[in-house]
Amino acid sequence: MKVAVFSTRSYDRQFLDRANEAANSPHNLEYFETKLNHKTASLAKNFTCVCIFVNDSADGDTLRILAEQGTKLIALRCAGYNMIDMEVAHELGLKVVRVPAYSPYAVAEHAVGLVLMLNRKLNKAYNRVRDDNFTLDGLLGFDLHNSTVGVIGTGKIGVIFAQIMQGFGCHLLGYDVHPSEHFSAIKGSKYVDLPELLAKSDILSLHCPLLPSTHHLINSETIEQMKQGVMLINTSRGQLVDTRAVIDAIKTGKIGYVGLDVYEEEDELFFEDYSDSVIKDDTFQLLQSFQNVVITAHQAFFTRDALSAISETTIANITNWEQGTELINEVKFS
Ligand code: NAD
Repeated sequence: MKVAVFSTRSYDRQFLDRANEAANSPHNLEYFETKLNHKTASLAKNFTCVCIFVNDSADGDTLRILAEQGTKLIALRCAGYNMIDMEVAHELGLKVVRVPAYSPYAVAEHAVGLVLMLNRKLNKAYNRVRDDNFTLDGLLGFDLHNSTVGVIGTGKIGVIFAQIMQGFGCHLLGYDVHPSEHFSAIKGSKYVDLPELLAKSDILSLHCPLLPSTHHLINSETIEQMKQGVMLINTSRGQLVDTRAVIDAIKTGKIGYVGLDVYEEEDELFFEDYSDSVIKDDTFQLLQSFQNVVITAHQAFFTRDALSAISETTIANITNWEQGTELINEVKFS
């Protein structure tokens, strides 16, 4: 089947080619570096399947162009499906498949990495030693042992993050609209309501999906309920957080540390090289300027294991649709 694969880098091609070559009936993959949007959709003319990633835009206009040009299947190379207008996809009869789980460990471990970097100021320490400066002033951290960690969204990633933090000796509070027995099974864990979790946590980590109900879950009102000097970690989706409210709270000291792998307006920035140009996003630049903020560019998923799993599931999803077998990873409109 002809598949137009958008937003690809050399590593995507390498892992997708490997998974495709290993498949019983390989597909004809054509790679585009550009993102999918209504302006680039014409590249996918006559491609039965369009394969996209987190910062592509499959909004209503784009989907209409794709459907008119002959596309029948949209294969997402990720778990989240906030970049696609599912109502329009449903109206147009487009099938949508995704990769619901690849390596929850990759994302959870990255979130823990952000916690350690912020707490022990590893970024500063690394640069200081390279500069032959062996002083410790300004590097003071705190023991994770006995701190309280609040996990918002205790699905696959949230549970693994919680298990790792339990290993450090942290107390675990969870909040989820669908509590999970896996979280409850972790020693020292407890489900509480959101206000209690916000009020008691020294470290808050977001692991829920971006939905209309979770958009700006972290805003000036929820920040107000947090502990003074709290650490906020977001490896989930940028729009869970009202960035301006977080900046205000960093300035007052209400939020003491921020670790982000995702950013509200990341689709304008992440996965591109702007090292030779000027970034025009003032909010991002201001956020970057704080010494207690660490930002990575949506790399939490980026391990060999995760890329293999993403590629294998994506190829299998496309093959299942082509062969008319059950679409276990279909995203249904509800
Ligand atoms: P999951 O579906 O297993 O878990 C999500 C959990 O969030 C579920 O338990 C769900 O009940 C809960 N939830 C839904 N609405 C909620 C709400 N309003 N409040 C609290 N909890 C709520 O998903 P997962 O595999 O653990 O992934 C979590 C998120 O991580 C994804 O949605 C995605 O946005 C993000 N992610 C990021 C990366 C990255 O590279 N940074 C990679 C993969 C996934």
